[in-house]
Amino acid sequence: MTTDLSSFPQILLWCANKVFEELTDIERQFHKALYTVRIYLNCERYSVALLDMTKEKEFYEQWPILLGEVPPYKGPKTPDGREVNFYKIIDYILLGKEEIKVIPSPPVDHWSLVSGLPTYVAENGFICNMMNAQADEYFIFQKGPVDETGWAIKNVLSLPIVNKKEEIVGVATFYNRTDGRPFDEYDEQITETLTQFLGWSVLNTDTYDRLNKLENRKDIAQEMLMYQLQCTPHELQTILKTKEKLNKNVDECEEKELVKILKEELPDPTALELYEFHFSDLPVSEHELIKSGIRLFVELNAVEKFKVPAEVLTKWMYTVRKGYRDITYHNWRHGFNVGQTMFTLLMTGKLKKYYSDLEAFAMVAAAFCHDIDHRGTNNLYQMKSAAPLAKLHGSSILERHHLEFSKTLLEDESLNIFQNLNKRQFENVIHLFEVAIIATDLALYFKKRTMFQKIVDATEQMQSDDERIKYIITDQTKKEIIMAMMMTGCDLSAITKPWEVQSKVALMVANEFWEQGDLERTVLQQQPIPMMDRNKAEELPKLQVGFIDFVCTFVYKEFSRFHKEITPMYDGLQNNRVQWKTQADAYDEKMKALEELNKKHENDVGVKKGTEGREDNGPTKSKTCTVL
Ligand SMILES: [Zn+2]
Repeated sequence: MTTDLSSFPQILLWCANKVFEELTDIERQFHKALYTVRIYLNCERYSVALLDMTKEKEFYEQWPILLGEVPPYKGPKTPDGREVNFYKIIDYILLGKEEIKVIPSPPVDHWSLVSGLPTYVAENGFICNMMNAQADEYFIFQKGPVDETGWAIKNVLSLPIVNKKEEIVGVATFYNRTDGRPFDEYDEQITETLTQFLGWSVLNTDTYDRLNKLENRKDIAQEMLMYQLQCTPHELQTILKTKEKLNKNVDECEEKELVKILKEELPDPTALELYEFHFSDLPVSEHELIKSGIRLFVELNAVEKFKVPAEVLTKWMYTVRKGYRDITYHNWRHGFNVGQTMFTLLMTGKLKKYYSDLEAFAMVAAAFCHDIDHRGTNNLYQMKSAAPLAKLHGSSILERHHLEFSKTLLEDESLNIFQNLNKRQFENVIHLFEVAIIATDLALYFKKRTMFQKIVDATEQMQSDDERIKYIITDQTKKEIIMAMMMTGCDLSAITKPWEVQSKVALMVANEFWEQGDLERTVLQQQPIPMMDRNKAEELPKLQVGFIDFVCTFVYKEFSRFHKEITPMYDGLQNNRVQWKTQADAYDEKMKALEELNKKHENDVGVKKGTEGREDNGPTKSKTCTVL
């Protein structure tokens, strides 16, 4: 085999190009292919506009449309029903000095899009050859130079890039044949072959094989994980004590016997204050929290109504606990607290009246799972450290992982607490899991804030409870927005707890942040933000006050306005704000005093230096140092 050395510099070029680093794996394949064949392209310039492949909008993007606040999309769509959205343009200049430009999120009036031709091609899948582009009446191209190089459009050949699934993944547009003549059939042929090749390179057979292999590998990893994770028969006996009580194995018992044993084992909700907003997990053992979790489902009446086998429920709850890592804050205790707060918002906070029993069951279950397998570092860290999770999910990285993890548990029938639901009910539960768990991404909180406030505003004007209930339960979107905000209220609930609890938990959160800060310094060699910098630990009270003011106050104030039964959370929050503010002020005072002391010292030293200087008296420097 001979190696064609002449292609080496070319390959090196596309690799070394800084553009390469800005592209995703798939875009790199495009780039690689186009860059390698560019010498065969008989044109001055070409651009590739990449299309967004998302078929469906995220639920939080659909809400404003469903609420009628934003009109539904009426613009052009690809043949498979996607909105035509060019998320990136790669612009290749071949004329003169070769150059490649990447334009992320290009504006609609970008010179390469403004004519509407790429959109037309994406919508219809046609090849368009425009002999004299400037004279065209339908597509109005930019007249005169498009950029500082003085280059202008003369003729254009535009084609869809289609993958093997026959989806249009982008539009390639070639400009100005080098000999000045219009593009002809021959050009159409080569470019068509090229764009097909491009589309295939995105999902070629190799990639398919690789994907299949990966799929298998994922299945094996999942099996291994489930084996290690699942509640063992021995662990099951610590709650479902059939051996101790009946001298039988679990599978030898009747369901009635199991329910009886389980109920005897579950803690008293009043003694543990499971219905209280001020509930604290601190005096409760982690094992007891598993039993308390099961207790909440019994209290919701979900076990009986949805025929959840006692063994399955116990195993699921135990396995959820084991799915949480033993990290500083985002551990099982946090997972439990979020589930307990969801339960309390529904029952004590009276929000249950807007939801069916099944929805309430799903919401509490999702709340327990919402941070499962958290790694103690946030989404930004996953991105910066290029963690595999960040490559898998584009946004809400960890939240999507918690969701996938929770769904994996339910795929195992021995853990599927929803196994006796019909298909439609089960799908509904999975949908609620998706909305509830993704909603815990604080980055989305600001998107749903005003939508929630409008619901509260509207219900405040209503005269009767019946009217309020009707207003909400007849609109699935409103129910989901409230549920999403409830998840945030649960996730942040530590900030509303009695001061003895809040002050301890805040330190745990801070410690986990500081641990991430340490990793940023050692692994990423970056300076952490003040919140994650343990050298700035004294700023914690100030940061807490800021967090309360900018994020938390809205949540609990609005919930108290919505349901007065939730006021204890708002009161708790305000009390904690006073505490943190006092500490923050004390710290400020201390810093001010220190600063003044320093100033005074500086002045003293200055004066001293001045006098000593005049007297020209020996080793002045060392003297002043000893003073300091
Ligand atoms: Zn959480």
